[in-house]
Amino acid sequence: MSTEEDQSQRTVTVVGGGVAGMSAACALAEAGFAVRLVERRGYLGGRASSYRHPGVDEVIDNCQHVVFGCCTNVMGFYQRIGVAEKVHFTSEMTMIEPGGRRSTLGSSRLGPFTLPAPLHGLPRLMAAKAFTWADKMALARAFGAVMRGDARDENENLADWLKRHKQTKGAVERFWRLVIASALNAEIETISVPYAAMVIRGLFMDSVFGGAMGMSRVPLSELYGGVAEFLKSRGGEVVLNTSIEGGEQDEETSQWILRTRSSAAGAGEMRSDFVVVALPFEGMMKLLPGLPANEDAEALAGQIERHEHWPLCSVHLWFDREITELDHAVLLDREIHWLYNQTKIQGRGLQGRATDEGHYIELVISATRAFAALTREAAIEQALRELAEFFPAVKEAKLIKAALVKEMRATFGVPPGIDAARPGAISPWPGLFLAGDWVRTGWPSTMESAARSGHLAAEAVCAAAGRKERFLVADLKAQGLMRLIR
Ligand SMILES: Cc1cc2nc3c(=O)[nH]c(=O)nc-3n(C[C@H](O)[C@H](O)[C@H](O)COP(=O)(O)OP(=O)(O)OC[C@H]3O[C@@H](n4cnc5c(N)ncnc54)[C@H](O)[C@@H]3O)c2cc1C
Repeated sequence: MSTEEDQSQRTVTVVGGGVAGMSAACALAEAGFAVRLVERRGYLGGRASSYRHPGVDEVIDNCQHVVFGCCTNVMGFYQRIGVAEKVHFTSEMTMIEPGGRRSTLGSSRLGPFTLPAPLHGLPRLMAAKAFTWADKMALARAFGAVMRGDARDENENLADWLKRHKQTKGAVERFWRLVIASALNAEIETISVPYAAMVIRGLFMDSVFGGAMGMSRVPLSELYGGVAEFLKSRGGEVVLNTSIEGGEQDEETSQWILRTRSSAAGAGEMRSDFVVVALPFEGMMKLLPGLPANEDAEALAGQIERHEHWPLCSVHLWFDREITELDHAVLLDREIHWLYNQTKIQGRGLQGRATDEGHYIELVISATRAFAALTREAAIEQALRELAEFFPAVKEAKLIKAALVKEMRATFGVPPGIDAARPGAISPWPGLFLAGDWVRTGWPSTMESAARSGHLAAEAVCAAAGRKERFLVADLKAQGLMRLIR
């Protein structure tokens, strides 16, 4: 292709309407490709979406999704579709012990100035009542080790590393298990150390904004509502309720012909110059038999087999009154980990209305297979009982309705050696590229990893079309002393 005009006529089919597929599709549409985004479900968002829950007749997110300041690519995607300002950032994290005692983590100011990285979080950590003096010393020692680069062995697991760095019980339970393991949604025994170090540096050390926590002020699917229009106005389209079952390359034109199954129109075919497959690892495995067989495809199957998924649960509660003034909180020493006050965050009471008729609280329980195995009744009963230990107002409040959402395949784990099982954007087939949070981005299973993979796949499509484009948004610059340590 030699001219801009020729380029704009090239077509891409993106398979999968999650964050990875949407980011790839929008980047490619902006670069002038005619993009068709194909999604099996009736809505976009994949593992980060909202829908009307039939049990409570409310629109809910499948789970609260948070981003952090260091998530430059997912924010880049939001900026591209014009919704970045709908994400509200806060730099404070309140930790609560059973009984109600509070500590606050986050950046500190010295008069009008924020302390330079990595010291910005230190005063609040040192003042936190949730940690004993020995816990604080242990954490300072561990952070120092991360700074010195003593957390780079991808074959070491986090539990062993914590032992090696003499972490106290309090530091392990209230920081490493709660904050780090739940950010990575896995148990510490199964986390490869560099992934934990990456979270520490990104959220607590490299820059002041890196650890700011962002929450959408609108339900997730509303956030992506503009994707269809974005693509349409650039000659593309979103095709919902349609599953891609397989495909092959036309020998004459080198175009891809994908076989589809649509709930509305039955089976059919889709043709395009390029394909981006943006599926989770299980989805990619299912698609493999429908794609042309070759040796590299077998190797890819071998990589996929090494992945394991982890569950995440959320309990959604509507009370007749406010039970806390906090927007969000980290709950210590119990099964329920994170509290999100959706009436404060999204301004929603009952039936999505901004009303004082009902107060909507969401609790998130990460990486606990035991909680995921509970029945709905047992899970809601346990969540309520534990919540009352942090907020006595729960005992007086009337529960209007409740929902439990179990996502058994929420995220993939990052055990030692996992990087060898994460393929890049280049696939075993010419003209077909891979995206999805599980491909090699260096990030754990997050929307940021998904957006990065989408941007990398879009760059690979452009390269295949003879164009050099850069969609990957750079990391935040290291600040303060961290500029000297990379
Ligand atoms: C409960 C929960 C809580 C989470 N919390 C956070 C959080 O706080 N912060 C964070 O950053 N991340 C969080 N994550 C992780 C995050 O949601 C994922 O990492 C990210 O959304 C993955 O995006 P993806 O596009 O790679 O995959 P997916 O979202 O899985 O998208 C793949 C899409 O492909 C579609 N599809 C599958 N097969 C086909 C087919 N054959 N044809 C067409 N379409 C198909 C699927 O329906 C799906 O929409 C959470 C995940 C869950 C489940």
